[in-house]
Amino acid sequence: MDIMANRMDRLYFKYKKEFDNKAVSVLESGWYILGKEVENFEKEWANFVGTKYCVGLASGLDALWIAFRMLNIGKGDEVIVSANAYIACVMGITINGATPIFVEPDIYNNIDALRIEEKITEKTKAILAVHLFGQSCDMDRIMELAQKYKLKVVEDCAQSHGSHWRDKVVGSIGDIGCFSFYPSKGCGAFGDGGCITTNDERIFNDCRVFRNYGSEKRYYNKVVGTNSRLDEIQAGLLSVKLKHIDTINEERCKIAAIYNDRINNKLIKKPQIRENADSTWHQYVVHVVENKRNDLMNHLKNNGINTIIHYPIPPHLAEAYKYLGYKKGDFKIAENYANEVLSLPMYNGMTNEELVYVIDKINEFI
Ligand SMILES: *Cc1c(COP(=O)(O)O)cnc(C)c1O
Repeated sequence: MDIMANRMDRLYFKYKKEFDNKAVSVLESGWYILGKEVENFEKEWANFVGTKYCVGLASGLDALWIAFRMLNIGKGDEVIVSANAYIACVMGITINGATPIFVEPDIYNNIDALRIEEKITEKTKAILAVHLFGQSCDMDRIMELAQKYKLKVVEDCAQSHGSHWRDKVVGSIGDIGCFSFYPSKGCGAFGDGGCITTNDERIFNDCRVFRNYGSEKRYYNKVVGTNSRLDEIQAGLLSVKLKHIDTINEERCKIAAIYNDRINNKLIKKPQIRENADSTWHQYVVHVVENKRNDLMNHLKNNGINTIIHYPIPPHLAEAYKYLGYKKGDFKIAENYANEVLSLPMYNGMTNEELVYVIDKINEFI
């Protein structure tokens, strides 16, 4: 059997008729940038997340750096982020000239909220809460600290479309929620896309202007902005997918539940979910102990099963961030995770046969 780590075509074929009809209708409309599809989708997404506003953007990375720009966070400022985050999270901070301050992850692969306070200085302006792999960070502690020290909170929800902290959907808790609609994400587009969500009318208005060359009215430019717009065709296709998001997330939960139930190998630590959180299972990430991760990966590969490492190099050791001056050993937990983690095949439309095959091959590994 040949099993890919991800199969985005399966969801497309499941709803093919709806996607095709929408794509053709946008193509035939003759209107491709900032029109009614984007406006509709922004309303639907805000409603889904539970915020007053949403602004469609060109990518998740844009959502992040534009979020910090809207909060006036840049040169000389510090932003706290998990040492276990995706590189885009850190770039979202540094593009504006701000400095990332790393905090070790906890056993849920998210920022260890108990280690944040010791990193807060006079320069700290925000916490970037990255809800990694589909699971919310400990938002009670993060919001408490934010209040105590008057910090902004930006949520990176790229991997957590519809995940909850208590009764709230992530992206509605901090000052700004940032989303990516990269094809592999929960509600993924068929190309690049992203958005921010917020309850702040000022941020909403400023962001709408900023994404379109700083102009509200064509050729009247109020500020130096950028070009970061969600396409009409992507917005239309995203609206189609959003209608099915509950089914999509439920199906991933079922796959995760079967992995949880049937993986039985003492070398493997299965993912854990924090009290008050849930997961939409963007990835099913196990930790392989005793330095056996690469062996397991090869064993699976030899049996036709593809897996991915999220992520092999923590941001503080990335070549791009040499200038920050970190070295190996500075964030031992994050570095250890980079050597342990393995993302098992997880995608909508995964068959029972595929799932059982993966589980059997994992369980036979010694
Ligand atoms: C995918 C992702 C991003 C970046 O999104 P793009 O749309 O690829 O720019 C940012 N943060 C996290 C956690 C992601 O998974």
